[in-house]
Amino acid sequence: MPFFDLLVNACEQNPGRIAVRCDNEASSFSEHFSRISRAAHLLRMTLGLASNDRFAILSRNSVDYLELIHASLLGAAIVVPLNVRSSEPELAAVLRDAGCRALFFSDEFCGVAQRLKDVTEVEHIIQIGDSQPSYTAYRGLIQEATEWLPKRPDGSDTAFIMYTSGTTGRAKGVVIEHAAMANDIYKTGIVTTLTQGYTFLLHAPLFHIASIRGFGLAPATGSTVVLLPRFDPPRIIQEIKAHDVNTTSFIASTVRNMLELPGFHGTALPSLTTIGYGSAPMHPAVLRRLMSAFPKAEFVNWYGMTETCGHVSVLNGLDHKLGGRRLTSCGRAMPGIGVRVIDEAGLPVSHGTVGEITVSGDNLMRGYWNQPPLKTDHTGTSWYPTGDAGYLDDDGYLHLVGRIRDMIITGGENVAPGEVEAALCNHPEVHQAVVFGMDDLKWGEAVYACVSAPANAQISSDQLRAHCRTQLAGYKVPKTISIQHNPFPMSGSNKIDRNLVKSLYTQSYPDKTNTH
Ligand code: ATP
Ligand code: MG
Repeated sequence: MPFFDLLVNACEQNPGRIAVRCDNEASSFSEHFSRISRAAHLLRMTLGLASNDRFAILSRNSVDYLELIHASLLGAAIVVPLNVRSSEPELAAVLRDAGCRALFFSDEFCGVAQRLKDVTEVEHIIQIGDSQPSYTAYRGLIQEATEWLPKRPDGSDTAFIMYTSGTTGRAKGVVIEHAAMANDIYKTGIVTTLTQGYTFLLHAPLFHIASIRGFGLAPATGSTVVLLPRFDPPRIIQEIKAHDVNTTSFIASTVRNMLELPGFHGTALPSLTTIGYGSAPMHPAVLRRLMSAFPKAEFVNWYGMTETCGHVSVLNGLDHKLGGRRLTSCGRAMPGIGVRVIDEAGLPVSHGTVGEITVSGDNLMRGYWNQPPLKTDHTGTSWYPTGDAGYLDDDGYLHLVGRIRDMIITGGENVAPGEVEAALCNHPEVHQAVVFGMDDLKWGEAVYACVSAPANAQISSDQLRAHCRTQLAGYKVPKTISIQHNPFPMSGSNKIDRNLVKSLYTQSYPDKTNTH
């Protein structure tokens, strides 16, 4: 079944409920349905796009943005959400790669949109939002359009193309089919205690797969989505209070920012009963603080990637209550998802052994755009190699230790950066840590670390190394630890930009590389 059915039925069955709210605007499900069916008409009839033509959106989160995504999920055309933090050449490369015929943009990107039109094959640029338009305005076109539903898409048709975060290289266009999207929603819908008619606060960007529960699961269950244009900690607290928000989900690397605010706790925010996190490693000390700030809440750690429409495994509310060593894991595979950990020869490794995590399931992408589809094994099953390093324990919990390409081999021993980062972050004065390997004449590679600590922190590199020695084998202890008093640079998806941290380190200490 395509996502179409979930969306259309939810709109029909909850006509008076608020579907979406952003700033001072709100639409009920019946108004939302009217608008998305007119957006479908606009894409197909006014702009002349075919159902498999692509259109892009360059904007912070907004009501219009969500409507256009939903028009794509009705099967009108294929949406390609763009990362607002990308440079113009990167955006042009994505528009060309995906062959987009139209570009919708918000007022802050007027100049960029015009220049992108000049250098790509984009035919139409249309301004969204409620500010005075300088270009053809989406809202004017929507007023003139009529309500119209495209032919219900087949499950194997493309629902959207989303580019990955580009953490490990150039972002890749992930092709998600309509059935894969629906299958992902069914899996995520059975994980939390909230099932229907709740209020979800979405502050993750709509161009990132972490927002799928906001633009997919919540509308499909007749729930209200409160949209924030961007991640904004004080406003998150205000919106939770103002709209009695029941659930939200954080990029794990941003939770510490929330905990710094005095009003972020269960007594001040009693409506917030389910708190999700994921997309990046969560440091145990931060999780402990989060759980004690919301002692009555249900916590969910979601592990997944753009290529799996967002989800692979989940550490659910009960797991969080039971605690123990499972708390540092990404939980168990969701129903119908295969998880195998393999060695370099592609053979499954035993429980407890680190290898590459590979996954299968009916929510997997078809493949990357302009690339062949995923290969299938002799049973006809497609397996996606995630590039993540990890192991399964005897109870089936998946533990992540970092990315395969970030693994450090020092003196023949493997060191997982995630393990060293967790040890560093256990120190009360350390806020963030990035561990990486550097070429080393004696050991092949040596372990290095950068940490960020508050301005008044009284710690030295030697003290931190001594702290690591109490928790880690000697070869895992970083040779040098650089201490910074600024937060690390973040990527457009709000993950720590590891490559940038490493290259800033190499620029600052050129003499420390290659000399041992
Ligand atoms: P690119 O594929 O372009 O290099 P990316 O992998 O960061 O970028 P995403 O699809 O946004 O792009 O992120 C998926 C990755 O995020 C996973 O492969 C994993 O490394 C990390 N991740 C996701 N969820 C979690 C989680 N709950 N805990 C730890 N890491 C996570
Ligand atoms: Mg990836």
